[in-house]
Amino acid sequence: MTESSTHRTFSDIQTKIDRGDVVILTAQEICDRVRNGETFDLHDIDVVTTATSALMSGTYAVLSFKVAQPDTFTKAAKVWINNVPAQVGPCPNERIGILDLIVLGTQVSTIDPDYGAGDLFRDLILGSRVLVEIETDDGQHLSSFTTLKQIPHAMLHASRNAFKNYLAFVNPGKTAVSTIFHSQEMKGNYEEMTFCGCGEINPLENDPELKTIGVGTKVLINGAQGFVTGAGTRSSADNPNLTGIADMHQMNPQFLGGFTTGHGPDIITTWAVAIPVLDKEMLNHILKTDEQIPLKVVDVRNRKPIFEITYGDVWNKTDHGIEFDKKICLKCDVCRVESICPVKAVHWDLETGLKFDRSRCFNCGLCVSRCKGGTFFAHLGSIELEGIDHKVPVTLRQSDRVAALKAAKDLKKQIQKGQFKMTEPVGKITFPGSA
Ligand code: SF4
Ligand code: SF4
Repeated sequence: MTESSTHRTFSDIQTKIDRGDVVILTAQEICDRVRNGETFDLHDIDVVTTATSALMSGTYAVLSFKVAQPDTFTKAAKVWINNVPAQVGPCPNERIGILDLIVLGTQVSTIDPDYGAGDLFRDLILGSRVLVEIETDDGQHLSSFTTLKQIPHAMLHASRNAFKNYLAFVNPGKTAVSTIFHSQEMKGNYEEMTFCGCGEINPLENDPELKTIGVGTKVLINGAQGFVTGAGTRSSADNPNLTGIADMHQMNPQFLGGFTTGHGPDIITTWAVAIPVLDKEMLNHILKTDEQIPLKVVDVRNRKPIFEITYGDVWNKTDHGIEFDKKICLKCDVCRVESICPVKAVHWDLETGLKFDRSRCFNCGLCVSRCKGGTFFAHLGSIELEGIDHKVPVTLRQSDRVAALKAAKDLKKQIQKGQFKMTEPVGKITFPGSA
């Protein structure tokens, strides 16, 4: 098959993959080379692997598993797993001892305000034993332990994931506010900025016209092969997001977990999407770097836009990962990092000293401004905003570019090794307001 000079098809690219001469680059590799002055033609890149890792509240699990022998109880009325409330249903099974449950990603433990469904899903994927408690419709209380291996149906669903980037937040008011866009109270008088969005490596930023992303597109969700199922809730042409589904048994715990915000636990989810480069228009989007991708700065109190910067302002010349040097820890009486880390990656006590679980760290950066001794450090950048007499420091990121890049690299490797076969969409996705 001969490719046209201006247009290629999925099957043109699949043929190259099968022949072993496909060129696959992560979106980060392409943008780094563009920044170094390199130019690309349509036939220089066949597939770009993109990704995003962020707080994605619209994530939930559907679980179905046996908890008792048939006829032990008629129906479950209420269920908790590790004290996190689950919704019984959609199929409220009768007399068969099997639970069908929906667990919303933003649910919170009834006994630990810092433990939510994101932590529960991560614990399940890690293989931990979890406590299942049931209140039946006739008032019995039953409990048992289970693991993910004993849950035959465990699918993660996304009702609102993989946003085409997002927003930055400042507080112009005089008093601090509690918000989901910070993990502590957000200081007033433009003293700090938080933001969300992986910029140039975001999937919908690379294929905004959805020429290759549609219903049935195979993707990685938290490392597991899953599928796009449609447009996410509250999507619009300007602010699109996707729905999707993947099997929790195949997931990598590194890519998901709980994250405490000012309003309680939320959930981290990571998507990776392979985009075949079909035409010049697509290539032009793929070549856009962070500096060309706008980032609206909104008032955290009402989400009204007040400034516009770019993703270059927050991701370029900043450290995407957080560094840690235990030797310079001051051994404070109360470790402020332990108390504020939104993913509980830090533990400090006199007996064991300071412990940092790198595998949990989301690289949010909050510890950098809170650690008294500089044990945790990174350059997160500060932003000049017109009319504000000081630079506004970024203190918290609700996207993890390190995890996203790892997901994009993993996907690239899987395609190269023939472990991930790209699928052509079976249905077109349109967002309200799109042409
Ligand atoms: S706040 Fe920083 S310096 Fe103090 S105990 Fe915690 S890690 Fe060490
Ligand atoms: S960057 Fe710091 S505060 Fe954020 S998750 Fe990692 S250790 Fe915790």
